[in-house]
Amino acid sequence: MSFQTDTIHAGVAPDKAYGAIMTPIYQSSTFVFEDIGKHKGFDYTRSGNPTRKALEDSLCALEECSSAVAVTTGMAAITTVLNIFRTGDEIICTDDCYGGTSRLMKTVEEHFGIRVHFVNLQTAENLLPYVNERTRAVWVETPSNPLLNLVDIARVASLSRENSLLTIVDNTFLSPYGQKPFELGADIVVHSTTKYLNGHSDVVGGAVLSNSEELDQKLKFLVNALGTCAQPFDCWLVLRGIKTLVLRMREHERNAQAVADFLYNHPKVKQVFYPGLPSHPQHELARKQQKSFGGMVSFELDGSIEDVNRVLTGTKLFSLAESLGGVESLIEHPATMSHASMDREHREAAGITENVIRLSVGIEDSDDLLEDLGLALG
Ligand SMILES: *Cc1c(COP(=O)(O)O)cnc(C)c1O
Repeated sequence: MSFQTDTIHAGVAPDKAYGAIMTPIYQSSTFVFEDIGKHKGFDYTRSGNPTRKALEDSLCALEECSSAVAVTTGMAAITTVLNIFRTGDEIICTDDCYGGTSRLMKTVEEHFGIRVHFVNLQTAENLLPYVNERTRAVWVETPSNPLLNLVDIARVASLSRENSLLTIVDNTFLSPYGQKPFELGADIVVHSTTKYLNGHSDVVGGAVLSNSEELDQKLKFLVNALGTCAQPFDCWLVLRGIKTLVLRMREHERNAQAVADFLYNHPKVKQVFYPGLPSHPQHELARKQQKSFGGMVSFELDGSIEDVNRVLTGTKLFSLAESLGGVESLIEHPATMSHASMDREHREAAGITENVIRLSVGIEDSDDLLEDLGLALG
């Protein structure tokens, strides 16, 4: 089946009890046994739930892999994956990852002695000097947040394989519509389904996907042992969001391209970060590796911090808020909002200056979005 057909049908079958065409919300903590040792596939919702199973089957079809676990948030997905590792293990992580990811990795390093090396992976070979006999995995996020830098997933995966390391990709920014990390050699894919997969800013959720029996068993064990599993109602919301993923992503990309072109030609904008612009230093890699340039655009304003604040509070359609991937447009300030949890030194080394503004471009009419930005920029 095509991707678009899978967004509507994968994992979802008419309900066996009454033929409901939409997956019911099985809001039940426990399930009655038919006999001793015999139940209908589910016994307790932490271990498994039919609504969650439908979402997991849908995600598997979309990422074209063999296993998925749906968890409470994107951070729960990352927590679950980090629990694969043990004290003494080392991880190499892309240096401009999501603020919450770097904060969690630093905590895990301090509390549990799992060493994390933050490395600029825009050149994949930069990981090699950090590989030793304790290294277990390379953590990739591409495009990165908020500067939309890319990592060549196929190149990293091939270097990882040569060194027996896992390649883990956070695919939140593009969703499986825009990028297929398993095709490029990833071993594990994580998502914050809060973002494009759900797409309506009304739930927080996450998922971990894998493509091997061994990882599948480890991850399912961990979700049940840690209790990171997603709630039935949240799973139902994400399933509902996925049905319009293709339509939303097309509009997000179209609008983001229009916004990026507009900003690129604006005299008060110093630099625009969008993989769809030919001026993006990794535009060719984006064309090769991605099926969409996505809906996120960042830019560096030419001006003072007062000018930056005027833009942040001057838009009417773009709301000043964190998060991304919803149908409505958002504007935010990485240095004081999404990336405030990253220490200043790490943030500035990654190039996230105070003048960087990030946009999550929604699916409103593009002329209205450009007018709104134009007025705020003055
Ligand atoms: C939002 C986000 C996360 C964390 O997800 P939550 O659902 O907020 O816990 C992780 N990675 C990326 C790239 C994100 O954008």
